[in-house]
Order: sequence, then C-alpha cells, then structure tokens
Amino acid sequence: MVAMAKHLIFDSAIGSFKPENIVNTEVKCPFCCREKLEDVMAEDGPIVFLKNKYPVLRDTFQTIIIETDQCNSELSLYSKDHLHKLFQFSMEKWQDMIRSRDFASVLFFKNHGPCSGGTIRHPHMQIVGLKNIDYAPRIPVESLEGTIIHQSNDVELNLAKEPKIGFCEFNVRLKKLAAVDQMADYIQIIVHYIMNHFHKRCNSYNLFFYQLEDQIFAKVMPRLVTSPVFIGYSIPQVSSRGEEVIKEIQNIYF
Ligand SMILES: [Zn+2]
Repeated sequence: MVAMAKHLIFDSAIGSFKPENIVNTEVKCPFCCREKLEDVMAEDGPIVFLKNKYPVLRDTFQTIIIETDQCNSELSLYSKDHLHKLFQFSMEKWQDMIRSRDFASVLFFKNHGPCSGGTIRHPHMQIVGLKNIDYAPRIPVESLEGTIIHQSNDVELNLAKEPKIGFCEFNVRLKKLAAVDQMADYIQIIVHYIMNHFHKRCNSYNLFFYQLEDQIFAKVMPRLVTSPVFIGYSIPQVSSRGEEVIKEIQNIYF
C-alpha cells in the first residue's frame, strides 16, 4: 500500500508545452486533427477516449474524452441521442477505471469557458486516476444534498443548501446506474440554464462527478470569479435568490 499524499504535483516542464486556445483562439485545435491523435483507447462515432498527451499531474493516469467532432459545440446543444451516447460511454470508462483498483480514487470532470480552468475550447471531459489521493473524505456529503428542483424514480436534481464553495451549486444524484440518460438530461438542462438565463456575465461552468458510498453524484457549478471570502477563509456563501432560481428552472424546463 502506497502512503496517501495530500497534494498533487503539477509538472511545470510538461505544462509549458501544453497548447492553450481558450483565450488565444489562434492556436490550432489539437482535438480537431483526428488523424494525428495518439494513444486512442476507444471510440464511438465522433466520441474518442484517449490518453492525455500532456500529463501535467504526477502519480496520475490522465485521460480525455473528446465529446464531439464539432469544435464550437457545447453540451447544452447536443441532440438527446448524442448526449445519452456520450454519458453512457463516459460513465462506463470512469467505472472501468474505478473497478481496475489501480487508483486510490478516480476523478471525472469537465471544464467549459474562460473562468472554468480549462485550456482547450473543443468540448471534452477528463478522467484522471490518482495513485495516492482519495478525494472522497474531502467532499462533504451535505454539499451534494439540497432543495429538490425535479426528480424521477432514480434521479434527483437539487440546488445545494450547503454549497461546497458558494452561491448556486446544482447537484444530480443517480440512484441507479441504469438511469444515466435521465442524469444526462438534468445536467444538460442545468448547463443550458447557466449559459442562457443564470447571470449575464456567466459563460463558464464545471461539471464534477463523485462516487461516494456507492452513490453517484454530479455537481454542476457555474463559474464566475471565486469569492475572496472563500479563498481566504474557506467560508462558502449561499445565494439569497435560491428559491427564485428553482422556480425559474421549473418554469422554463419542466
Ligand atoms: Zn477542435
């Protein structure tokens, strides 16, 4: 058993070669040059699962899921067919890596937009196996619970009452893996809401998946500049507009 680590080490030497085109749109998109992709592990039509060419995090196995061959597309624009195919494919790859038992834990997340921390515009997600860090004890379960916006038998969509970082955090709880299509539908609705109705300056979001005590959760986090009160003091803030946001989503989408 390898000793658990507290920090991930970012390899600056690899980082300096990594292409970025979120701010500088002149840089050619590496995910559009399909014939040049290396270390492809699986494909399903336009969806590609491959090793990350720039593994900046030490003691990890970094992979990427290219979601589509449409460079300027975005999750909220996908057809239901494509959306469901993408989530079934990605969930299976994430679960395979968890089951391999090669990792202390496996991250699965997506960045979109200039405030999200992402570097490549082309829609993609990341699955990252961590050899020496288990993320689970760092995630308060309460931050994944909240006021129900909508629910079906096996999936729940809520607005966090005790957000992890702050303001509005949307959670999707998947009670049965077979209901992943419904989870994808809820995520797409929230992403569409964030990009179109939430806040006129918000053009970025993150999507984080968690497996905790055999339950799967996704957190959709709109990204604006992070509050200094959280950065400096670790005090999350809750929006006073919560009820209003919930009613607005219910009116538009359900
Ligand atoms: Zn592209």
